[in-house]
Amino acid sequence: MQDCLFCKIVAGEIPSTKVYEDDSVLAFRDIDPQAPEHILVIPKAHIQSAACVTAENSAVVAHIFEVISELSCKLGFAEEGFRVVSNVGARAGQTVPHLHFHVLAGRDMTWPPG
Ligand code: AMP
Ligand code: ZN
Repeated sequence: MQDCLFCKIVAGEIPSTKVYEDDSVLAFRDIDPQAPEHILVIPKAHIQSAACVTAENSAVVAHIFEVISELSCKLGFAEEGFRVVSNVGARAGQTVPHLHFHVLAGRDMTWPPG
């Protein structure tokens, strides 16, 4: 989608620090990390948010969670624990309207988040 930051990252028009890529999913380091490990995992196809997941496009979400599991082992934080967050809409703090899952690790997590 034109003018979507994460679609531009998928297209290689904006650089990113990739940690995983396949045909349908990309994972890269957040530019403003909120934890020692802060990865964003996104579908390559544009889906606006978790509120726009349907029977037609939900397979990629299942695949994203396989990728998150794989990355947690590869990057070494599966054992210690980590947090997965997806903000939906401005009120929840979504600033990029392309579905993404924050994967945060390497520090104690508090709830509710600050
Ligand atoms: P959210 O606020 O939930 O929509 O998350 C968007 C995330 O994208 C934020 O954590 C930003 O730091 C991150 N972000 C914005 N621009 C970039 C970029 N060019 N590369 C990597 N992460 C980015
Ligand atoms: Zn997009």
